[in-house]
Amino acid sequence: MAERDGPGDSADAEERGDSGGAFDYDVAVVGGGPAGCSAGVFTAREGLSTVVFDRGRSSLKRCAHLENYLGFPAGIDVETLYNLFHAHAETAGCTLVSDMVTTVDRADGAGFAVELQEGDPVTARRVVAATRYDGTYLQGLDGDAMIETNEHHGEEHERFARDYADRDGTTPVDGLYVASPSAGADRQAILAAARGARAGRRIVADARRGDGWWESVAEDVDWVRREAELDDEWTDRERWVEWFDERYAADAPVDTDSERYRQVREAAVEHVRSAYIDPDEIEERAEQGQEALAAHLDAEAVVDGVGERALLEAIDDDAIRSHVEAGETPSGDGV
Ligand SMILES: Cc1cc2nc3c(=O)[nH]c(=O)nc-3n(C[C@H](O)[C@H](O)[C@H](O)COP(=O)(O)OP(=O)(O)OC[C@H]3O[C@@H](n4cnc5c(N)ncnc54)[C@H](O)[C@@H]3O)c2cc1C
Repeated sequence: MAERDGPGDSADAEERGDSGGAFDYDVAVVGGGPAGCSAGVFTAREGLSTVVFDRGRSSLKRCAHLENYLGFPAGIDVETLYNLFHAHAETAGCTLVSDMVTTVDRADGAGFAVELQEGDPVTARRVVAATRYDGTYLQGLDGDAMIETNEHHGEEHERFARDYADRDGTTPVDGLYVASPSAGADRQAILAAARGARAGRRIVADARRGDGWWESVAEDVDWVRREAELDDEWTDRERWVEWFDERYAADAPVDTDSERYRQVREAAVEHVRSAYIDPDEIEERAEQGQEALAAHLDAEAVVDGVGERALLEAIDDDAIRSHVEAGETPSGDGV
């Protein structure tokens, strides 16, 4: 499988250090918890072929009930959240494999060889570690630099160094990113997800740079926008070409008449224009989103929730409503 289509598939890809098609996957993510699935969502949405390996000791599965992961007012049980993470990663385009990574080593060329407990080894251009409890399977890549001594209950242990990677997951090993373990960020699930997202976004930018993009263009956002926000002038593609020149030409490391500049501009303009969706598409995606979510919820809880909402909407009287919301039985006339 190759890096995604784009200027990098041109003849000068090799000159820019792009591997183009030499590996099984563009990205191999080790760990399918919050950090790993989050990283995979960003890389797969970019079109990078992404595999997520997930088996072994999980921090998330030790939580009794998650009450501080944003978006779930009464908390969320771990099984539902874990299944939602996996469904999200798969919908984004990740391949999920239930297998344990035993070692990651350098492959011939610039990528990595990923050895598995059960399956055949695979190769990947980039690897993301997202395993809160371990990282020693990476040790062949940078030896003791990856290890720190930690005191736990009065005893000293060796473990994967929490500060080995930078905040965006980059490491001294080219192509290796560590989302987890990490200092601080892996202590709460929502922070682990954010750290995975940062690593995923870093990989997207690095892959684009491999395709000839320069940093300011490569770091463009993954947003979905409302077409209604566009004035008429922006329906014209040429306006976007002007926008690109105004915004990025000054930073460009190549002449604006060059083939590389033209190719990057073409791809970047295509990328930003495709982010806009019309009201019908917004409605369709909203419906799909609700349906996908509902498929993961307990049917009885959904029926109860819908019934309670309908009841609350039907009650006009604020006093009675507050009793019902508090779970009390209202009394008195007219109830
Ligand atoms: C008892 C307990 C309670 C907690 N309660 C909360 C809480 O209430 N709120 C909160 O925000 N945080 C809580 N946390 C912390 C939370 O679990 C972590 O912050 C979060 O899960 C870290 O995410 P992660 O993706 O880095 O790692 P993990 O959640 O550990 O996910 C790593 C995944 O990688 C897989 N894996 C591991 N090794 C390999 C390998 N070699 N190959 C392939 N796959 C592998 C595992 O099976 C796992 O699915 C709690 C932690 C514990 C231990």
